[in-house]
Amino acid sequence: MAQNKVQYQRGLSMSEFFDRYGLSQQCEALVRAWRWPKGFACPRCQGGWHSEFRRQDRLYFQCSACRYQCSLVCGTVFESSKLSLPKWFLAMHLMTQAKNNVSALELKRHLGVSYPTAWLLKHKLMQVMVDREQWRQLTGRVEIDDAYLGGEVHGGKAGRGSPNKIPFVAAVQTTESGQPVLMCLSQRPFTKESIRAFAEQSLVAPATLVSDGLGCFKVVRGTGILHEPHVTGGGAASAKHPSFVAVNTALGNIKTSLAGTYHAFGFAKYAHRYLGQVQYLFNRRFDLRAILVRLARAASQAVPCPLRAVRAAESSC
Ligand SMILES: [Zn+2]
Repeated sequence: MAQNKVQYQRGLSMSEFFDRYGLSQQCEALVRAWRWPKGFACPRCQGGWHSEFRRQDRLYFQCSACRYQCSLVCGTVFESSKLSLPKWFLAMHLMTQAKNNVSALELKRHLGVSYPTAWLLKHKLMQVMVDREQWRQLTGRVEIDDAYLGGEVHGGKAGRGSPNKIPFVAAVQTTESGQPVLMCLSQRPFTKESIRAFAEQSLVAPATLVSDGLGCFKVVRGTGILHEPHVTGGGAASAKHPSFVAVNTALGNIKTSLAGTYHAFGFAKYAHRYLGQVQYLFNRRFDLRAILVRLARAASQAVPCPLRAVRAAESSC
């Protein structure tokens, strides 16, 4: 049987992870280089002269000009956390190397922290992923489908308009031969206004949207995007239609990946974040060995995401 190149690529092994990121000093050197590539700059006065000291094994800086003190992680996603940087890095490693979604409960066990700590850390990192993907745009041949998360009854796609489902649009950019390239997931209702807004933000001409003919997808014609409807009749026939292999495969993987978290407390409220994580990982799936560094750098350069912002459903930190 032919091996799937993406699935069988060499990721970052656990032993390699601990060799590179197991010590605080190793993680600190990286965060420092990402935060201040030209050397320390005081957050208050931008001065470069400074002294350094440690308190409770954490690295601090004091500006020589204005005496301002800050830790290495102040002003980053790692701020306001008692977790050491190696634990943050381990969480990022687990969240980026696993094929399926890593639950907060699993993170709790692997990191040896409380459940609330693991939950908060996971959501902060998912928000970093959401922010990195918020301007993702697709072009060329794009397969699109409407789908729901959560509350399914005995498999199969839940009916459109069913209550208690979280509607989202899945769009997959493919090569001309149908190989998936990039994905865009967006939690939104299937109305014309909503789909038009999605098309204007996420599709770039020249693009051809391949859909199953659902009425609301017709509105993309007004945005300069070509529309190629295939009326499939829905159900199993729709899932096997050759024009939708990429998007249907992606939807199947999303369901598998998130199946264990559908019923988690607050899942509906935070579904956009789970979708953002799936999208982030999918769009970086060709280079598993580099994905941890990319996420860690983004987290080092992102602004803090306090608990109240994490709990605000629609917020962007
Ligand atoms: Zn200063």
